[in-house]
Amino acid sequence: MYDVIIVGAGPGGCITAKTLEDSGLKVCVLDRKPKNLIGEKVCGDAIGKHHLDFLNRKVGLGYPEEELKTKIRGVKIFSPDRKTFFTTETREGGYTINRLLFGQRLISELGDVNLLADTDVVGIKGRDVIIRREGKVDKIQAGVLVDASGMQAVIRRQIDSPYIEKDIDKRDIAICHREIRDYRFEDQEYCHIYLDQDMSSGGYIWVFPEGGHTNIGLGVKYPINPKERFYHYIKGKPFEDSKIINAGGGAVPVRRTIDSVVAFQNSLGFMFIGDAACQANPIHGGGIGQAMTGGYLAGSVIKKVIDDISLEGLWDYNLAWMKDYGSRSAGLDLFRILLQSLTNKQINFGMKNRLIREEDLLKTSEGGNLELGIADKLTRAMKGITRVNLLNNLRFTANKMQEIKNLYRDYPSPDGFFEWRSRVRKLYQEINSVLKNK
Ligand SMILES: Cc1cc2nc3c(=O)[nH]c(=O)nc-3n(C[C@H](O)[C@H](O)[C@H](O)COP(=O)(O)OP(=O)(O)OC[C@H]3O[C@@H](n4cnc5c(N)ncnc54)[C@H](O)[C@@H]3O)c2cc1C
Repeated sequence: MYDVIIVGAGPGGCITAKTLEDSGLKVCVLDRKPKNLIGEKVCGDAIGKHHLDFLNRKVGLGYPEEELKTKIRGVKIFSPDRKTFFTTETREGGYTINRLLFGQRLISELGDVNLLADTDVVGIKGRDVIIRREGKVDKIQAGVLVDASGMQAVIRRQIDSPYIEKDIDKRDIAICHREIRDYRFEDQEYCHIYLDQDMSSGGYIWVFPEGGHTNIGLGVKYPINPKERFYHYIKGKPFEDSKIINAGGGAVPVRRTIDSVVAFQNSLGFMFIGDAACQANPIHGGGIGQAMTGGYLAGSVIKKVIDDISLEGLWDYNLAWMKDYGSRSAGLDLFRILLQSLTNKQINFGMKNRLIREEDLLKTSEGGNLELGIADKLTRAMKGITRVNLLNNLRFTANKMQEIKNLYRDYPSPDGFFEWRSRVRKLYQEINSVLKNK
């Protein structure tokens, strides 16, 4: 019997475990991968330094060394016609990293935690966690079960709790094809993002520097085939004929966090972290830092409540996540729905005319606020009906983003959860019908 079982040794699971390091609790982390492959994942490999600063302060996580590929200053976002680009930079900057080496470092820092690699979690039955290891099926138990299994969300998909959404709408998932190429990208200090609704419908194309290599990828909305689009995109590009170092497909949730990241069933506490809880940023799909922050918050709550586990006690993780990241993520989700509804022409126009100012973009992409640049003045000056629609939709979304952020800042206690959730859903219905999100 463990105090805590963590399913998945990705960034989210590892930081949950690291947070529990000196707690004296009996913790077990399970991962279906062999130990030497933990961390390996198809990814853009980029992480903002501010996430690592936070985790350094909270759990002493070190900065990238062996896994470091490049230090980056920021991101350049290009309009579909490539005539305009916005540069977003933070004071701290960020890194591109080798995810396998990063994952290996994370597991090497787990101290006394019992890591069971090569162990597939099959599901739950009452209080039993069913695992398959070395060809045998077994069961283990704990007081708290943490689902940090990424997109697999093996526990979330099986739990029967009125608080938890088992399934995620396919429209809320970005499906990607990514290749690391033996090619040195000329702009080593910036990650490039290319918006193009024809090529990467509902998503974007990325070209990220990794020293002598380049991480190139394309994300789209279901049911488009990202690999086909990827090969179409790279035609004629300088890296078209470069050697492929690593290639593969992947998926990331790009919606607001699931409505509750905790549940309590059969006297067993459940917590959901990272991609399993849809904690990645809905605009750019970055989820490494978010998963680790989720892991830290969950671990901190476990330490407080482990002697008397209840829904009310675990709820502190909901409150800590939802009032901050959760609120921003909900605002960004609405902005994502707006962006996906735009045509290339509208994006070109919006970026060229600075409907959102470059300096506000970072605030939007991280904070979930939409500051409209000259949109108001333009509405009065404009005749074209399409553009007026664009401006109206921008203003409508900006207001709804504020509204939903406020709802999340007032995240309820368990008693008020269902009423709160119906208000969130109503707001989504409204935004989907105005922006015609299909
Ligand atoms: C193409 C692509 C590009 C991305 N680019 C970026 C980027 O540049 N920057 C960024 O910050 N984020 C990026 N992301 C998102 C990021 O990869 C995820 O948000 C992040 O890895 C989530 O961490 P996690 O710990 O929740 O899950 P994961 O990293 O997915 O880890 C989950 C772990 O659980 C294990 N597991 C799964 N199922 C089971 C099971 N049944 N039993 C036992 N173990 C199990 C897996 O083996 C894995 O080790 C990208 C994602 C994709 C797909």
